[in-house]
Amino acid sequence: MPERYRRILVVDLLGGLGDLVMALPVVHALARRNPGAALRVLTHAPGDALLRHDPAVTGVRTAEKGRERAAVAAELDRHPYDLVVSTTRYDDIPAEIEGRGMRCVTDLWRGPPPDEPVSRRYLRILRDEGLVDGYLPPQVQLTPDERARGAAALAEHAPRGRPVVLVPGAGMAVKHWPHWPALARAVAARGEPALVVAGDPAPGPWADAHAHRLPSTDLRGLAASFAAVAERGGVVVGPDTGPVRVAAAVGARTVGIFGPTAATRYGLAEPGTRAVDLQGLPGCPHRRPTAITEQVCWWEARCPLSPDGPACMADVGVAAVLEAVGV
Ligand code: SF4
Repeated sequence: MPERYRRILVVDLLGGLGDLVMALPVVHALARRNPGAALRVLTHAPGDALLRHDPAVTGVRTAEKGRERAAVAAELDRHPYDLVVSTTRYDDIPAEIEGRGMRCVTDLWRGPPPDEPVSRRYLRILRDEGLVDGYLPPQVQLTPDERARGAAALAEHAPRGRPVVLVPGAGMAVKHWPHWPALARAVAARGEPALVVAGDPAPGPWADAHAHRLPSTDLRGLAASFAAVAERGGVVVGPDTGPVRVAAAVGARTVGIFGPTAATRYGLAEPGTRAVDLQGLPGCPHRRPTAITEQVCWWEARCPLSPDGPACMADVGVAAVLEAVGV
């Protein structure tokens, strides 16, 4: 009989919304193994909102950017945890946890194979530690009211048909896909309702010409709109970003455009789904699937293969995306 834990803390302070989504299988697997446990999560805003209404989670606390280790220490002072699992290793956070003496796993990044998806790797390590059983993909829980509001918001701009939602905001220049205007034109030309999600950077004038904008909303509102897309058989298209991961986590079919990150590690296509991951320039010698932040192109989007921007993103053509979308 495996040991059970009563007070569990999951620390995910990697900083990205997508990082938190990739950590959700850890949260849910620990909850399944330890029914009735008080399970709390320490993460950043605004991702914490994704855990609201999650029956597996007792409480969520957020850390200020730049004060993460202090937040970990404060949380460990606040509750007498008997198990702590952390995805996060910077700023001596593992030492802060390990010094408290409870059972803990603080290195979920040890020896990652280049072809094992991050979430599955987390679970494999925890299973080897005897702490969890099987893997289930990331899931975000929405209330019936949220789902109804999401459906209404979607219907306002796409009253019929299978919506194709474009998520051009890349968050980082190295993930910018240069073909959004051409894709929007092609989707609109085929008569499918095309919608665009505002992001960073904001979509250009092409968006207004060829796609309705989804009304601005908070993260849970966006997740609810994606859930409505799923219910109507639509698809969400975007690069390797948090919002596209949220779409997959509420059941929407996704077409992921992967450039600097390896789809083998960061892909969204779970077995048994119709999600598609498209990898640009799969043979790029500069890509480091298990150490993306050390890639020459990562922080400044300076691609040694092209003066015009990330060659791998440009390499994913509109025709391939359209085929994957299936319009
Ligand atoms: S070096 Fe260029 S082509 Fe290679 S992963 Fe980075 S941006 Fe993509």
